[in-house]
Amino acid sequence: MTPTLRVCSLYPELMNIYADRGNIAVLRARCEWRGMGFELAASSLGETLDPDSADLFYMGGGQDRDQALVARDMVDTKRDALHAVAARGAVVLAVCGGYQLLGHSYQMGDEELPGVGLVDLRTVREPGERLIGNCAIEADLGSGPRVIAGFENHGGRTYLGDGEEPLGRVLKGFGNNGRDGFEGVHRGNVIGTYLHGPLLPKNVWLADHLIELALDIELGPLDDRMEDAAHASARRAAGI
Ligand code: GLN
Repeated sequence: MTPTLRVCSLYPELMNIYADRGNIAVLRARCEWRGMGFELAASSLGETLDPDSADLFYMGGGQDRDQALVARDMVDTKRDALHAVAARGAVVLAVCGGYQLLGHSYQMGDEELPGVGLVDLRTVREPGERLIGNCAIEADLGSGPRVIAGFENHGGRTYLGDGEEPLGRVLKGFGNNGRDGFEGVHRGNVIGTYLHGPLLPKNVWLADHLIELALDIELGPLDDRMEDAAHASARRAAGI
């Protein structure tokens, strides 16, 4: 039977800065180019989430204001479901604002936004500039170290709890907090990262890896000359 990737996009209209929805377009294209099925659903403000309804759950980045709306709603309507998603090994990919909300909290001055606590991390606004620029990291997702290149722009600084693994090591850029040299989080099939780009068009190897994890299949190669050029260009932009 032809496999179908079922993707659920969380708060797509609110959490989509830097056209993060491009990540979904890449997942769709890479499935369809291989003759596989692709189904997209969404869950937004006030809506519950069925943890079995998708193989991959996705959330993009957002402005602080939109994040505040989303944070409370997500805790109220989706926290338990997201824990069930992670427990059954479905893939969760969250970018920037979405990544911050996977943790325990996002402290902005006097206001503390709650997170869903899927991973052990906290994000705080600290005095200092926003962390902005091209960024490249080295990540090992099981098949040896690979480069993920993208663009970051965040005011929040993220600190992982003891025992929580980052997604990768910063080669160029700021990463989680501009201090400890780490970027993102990776626990089981839950991945959080600060990298926009959007992320997946510039790193299609990562898109394929997520599809493989989500469906427990092995994918054959595609003609990736254009995608490889996009990856090389993102690496050059970051200076590696
Ligand atoms: N609003 C968050 C911050 O500034 C996330 C920004 C983003 O998603 N790019 O830290």
